Amino acid sequence: MRVSQLLIPTLRETPADAEVISHQLMVRAGFIRKAAAGVYNFLPLAWRVVKKIEQIVREEMDRQGGQEIMMPIIQPAELWQESGRWDVYGPELFRLKDRHGRDFCLGPTHEEIITDLVRGEVSSYKQLPLLLYQIQNKYRDERRPRFGLMRGREFIMKDLYSFDRDEQGLDVSYNKMYAAYTNIFSRCGLVFRPVEADSGAIGGNDTHEFMVLAESGEATVVYCPAEPCGYAANSERAISPPDLPAGREEPAPVQEVSTPGSRTVEQVTAALKVGPDRIIKTILYETEKGMAAALVRGDREVNEIKLQKALDVLRLEIAGPEAVTKATGAPVGFAGPVGLKGMTVVVDTEVEAISNAVCGANKNDTHLINVNPGRDFSWHKCTDIRLVRQGFPCPNCSTPMEEARGIEVGQVFKLGTKYSKVLNAVYLDEKGISHPIVMGCYGIGVTRTIAAAIEQNYDQNGIIWPLAIAPFHVIVIPVSNKDELQMETAERIYRTLSEDGVEVLIDDRNERPGVKFKDADLVGYPLRITVGSKTLAEGKVELRHRRSGLVELLREDELTGRVRDIISAC
Ligand SMILES: [Zn+2]
Repeated sequence: MRVSQLLIPTLRETPADAEVISHQLMVRAGFIRKAAAGVYNFLPLAWRVVKKIEQIVREEMDRQGGQEIMMPIIQPAELWQESGRWDVYGPELFRLKDRHGRDFCLGPTHEEIITDLVRGEVSSYKQLPLLLYQIQNKYRDERRPRFGLMRGREFIMKDLYSFDRDEQGLDVSYNKMYAAYTNIFSRCGLVFRPVEADSGAIGGNDTHEFMVLAESGEATVVYCPAEPCGYAANSERAISPPDLPAGREEPAPVQEVSTPGSRTVEQVTAALKVGPDRIIKTILYETEKGMAAALVRGDREVNEIKLQKALDVLRLEIAGPEAVTKATGAPVGFAGPVGLKGMTVVVDTEVEAISNAVCGANKNDTHLINVNPGRDFSWHKCTDIRLVRQGFPCPNCSTPMEEARGIEVGQVFKLGTKYSKVLNAVYLDEKGISHPIVMGCYGIGVTRTIAAAIEQNYDQNGIIWPLAIAPFHVIVIPVSNKDELQMETAERIYRTLSEDGVEVLIDDRNERPGVKFKDADLVGYPLRITVGSKTLAEGKVELRHRRSGLVELLREDELTGRVRDIISAC
């Protein structure tokens, strides 16, 4: 194809509303244009990338026995009411009415639709296992859509659902999908890591997320560097053995001490000359069930996902200064568990083990020393609510763990019988006994994978596409359109490569070479062939690798073979 005829509207300026690099580069390189907040047009280059990722996904799903189907985007409210999610899904669900006033939603996910389909069509164990998938637009009415394709309100997903007789069958399906996902992201040329994850709102038991590692990632991944241990988890979910003292000290009597202006752990540590592992940090939260206090050691942070589970609440927000003063009688920085009333108290396992601890006195500029959990205060729950960070010991092998940022591009879930029970999707076994079908669901954010690929592969000049998902492999650039020899040679190379099945573009625009080179780097074609008078005088052309910057001078008759070798190596 010819650049002069393709819609590739590149921009020199960075768009003002684009915060992350993938969004900036996709707009600047002419891949996407906004239609509404979080809703985008995909221009020819972007659509080619979408199709390539979809093709890789499709091949790997089919290889594992997946059957591609297409379900409706518009879903009737009745099914969501039957599963109980119509009311709990919240404002992220795009809701609409038809002309008769009947409620519908735009599908954010398809558990209800597919379970309804399967309960109507599957009745016998002979029809199981079944793996059904689709690649389709999904909708989520984000409060604040941002980051371009990273967090849109309309996005493309592959979702596969597995249907099995029992847990063992589910394990087989789950492992198939885990393997397929590993192949997919490897084939896309991405650096990624599967991690244990929290099951969140969809519900379920086992789940892994596939994270593309990138500095800009919103998620934190904690992992064990020791081989072959390989423990890796989303920090929301990560666990680490508690750091417990060898024994209890003789409890001393509680004392009030004056700590003027000491609000933070660092300040209290300095004022009272105690280690942060002696300090009990008390953090107050507001929930739909009222106030709650979370107690962790001074050198720890609260994992709010774990806390939310411990409290069994949907809403969890740090209490504001007014609420803290109202609940404790003291300004922020001096809350403590002794005498604290009117709230649910959750104590971290490590806090329960501290002897003669320091904590806030619920009184301005005052702390308590020699506080002993159990003797001086009680709690509703004692459990692990710590946020695991870099350096914490691995739960499997105790090696200090490391941290990385990641972008979630895929997730595999064991749903079990959560949906089949409420929607009554059952099968009959050999003896005619009825059982709920055991389900799993497996998603890949196709458009998000594009954004993640860019977040992981760019430099100051633009995108650096992994070859397998690049919109085109090669661009041929004649330096001067006015030079007949250059144009003839460039056209001939373009034709030869096209006929050879290489995805090649020719930049035939009557532009200055600098403009053509800048655009080529911005769009990120993996290979650039430059036809200029200097090298032509020696009978050669220049082949430049976008990623390494490596330049090879080749005769025209060597070129096709070399390009073919590079492409087939990916
Ligand atoms: Zn380990």
